[in-house]
Amino acid sequence: MELVVLGTAQDGGLPHVGCERPCCARARRQGRELYPACLAVHDPATGALLLIEATPRIEPQLALLHELAGAHDRGRRPVDCVLLTHAHIGHYLGLAHFGKEVASTDSLPVFCSPRLAGFLRAHGPWGQLVKTRQIALHEVAPRVAFSPLQGLTVTAVPVPHRDEYSDTMAFKLRGPNKTVLFVPDIDSWQQRPGLLDELLDGVDVAYLDATFYDGRELPDRDLTKIRHPLMVDTMRRLATRAKAHPGALRFIHLNHTNPA
Ligand SMILES: [Zn+2]
Ligand SMILES: [Zn+2]
Ligand SMILES: [Zn+2]
Repeated sequence: MELVVLGTAQDGGLPHVGCERPCCARARRQGRELYPACLAVHDPATGALLLIEATPRIEPQLALLHELAGAHDRGRRPVDCVLLTHAHIGHYLGLAHFGKEVASTDSLPVFCSPRLAGFLRAHGPWGQLVKTRQIALHEVAPRVAFSPLQGLTVTAVPVPHRDEYSDTMAFKLRGPNKTVLFVPDIDSWQQRPGLLDELLDGVDVAYLDATFYDGRELPDRDLTKIRHPLMVDTMRRLATRAKAHPGALRFIHLNHTNPA
C-alpha cells in the first residue's frame, strides 16, 4: 500500500485569497500553487484509492492521484472512499464536486465523526448529496478501528480544535507495513494530558499541524491567541523522537505566511 501526499498547505492554499505579501505575490507571478493538506492511500494490488480530506482543490489533487496511481477510466468513482477530519473549508468543501453538477458519484462512502455526519445531513448543499445518494455517510466512533479499504485499518482520535460545525478527528492509518498519523489541525498538544503520546503511540510516520512557524509571520496577532501549536514548539517537544527516527515526523497544513 502506498501513501500519497496531495497537499501540504493550510485551508486557503497558496496563493491565498487577498494576500499581496511576497509569499503569494511571487507565487502568482510564477504560477506556483500549493494545495490544502490532503493525503491518499493507493493499493497497487487492487487499484483501490482512499482520499483523506475533500479540499477546495479536489480536482487537480484527484488528477494528480490518478496520474501517480496509473488510474484510468474510473468514471463516476474517482476514489473508493473518503475520510474527513472536520468541517473547516479546506477539509470538506471538495465534497461538492461529487454532486450531480460534476462527478455525480454513486453512494461514495464518506467516513467521518457522528457530529460531522449530522452537520452534513442537516445543511445544504451537503444534505442533498446524502439524500440523492451521491455520498453515503459512515459514522465512525472515536478510538474504534474501522476498515475503509481491505488491508487498511483506521482509528479516529478526537483532538481539540475550533468546533463551530463539527468536532475534529486525527486519523491513525494502519497498513500492512507502516502506521501513519494525520493530524492537520489541532489547537494544542497539551490541552488534554497524554494526547500527544496517544497520537504518536505505535506510529511510524506522523503528519503534524504546522500552520504557523514561530508566530513572527503574523506580526498583528497576539501569540497567546494563536490556536495552533507553533512549529518551533513542536520541534522542541519532539526533538528526541525526531533524532531517533529520522523522517518519522513531517509537517503539513502550512499557512501561506509560514516561512518553512
Ligand atoms: Zn485546516
Ligand atoms: Zn501569502
Ligand atoms: Zn480547522
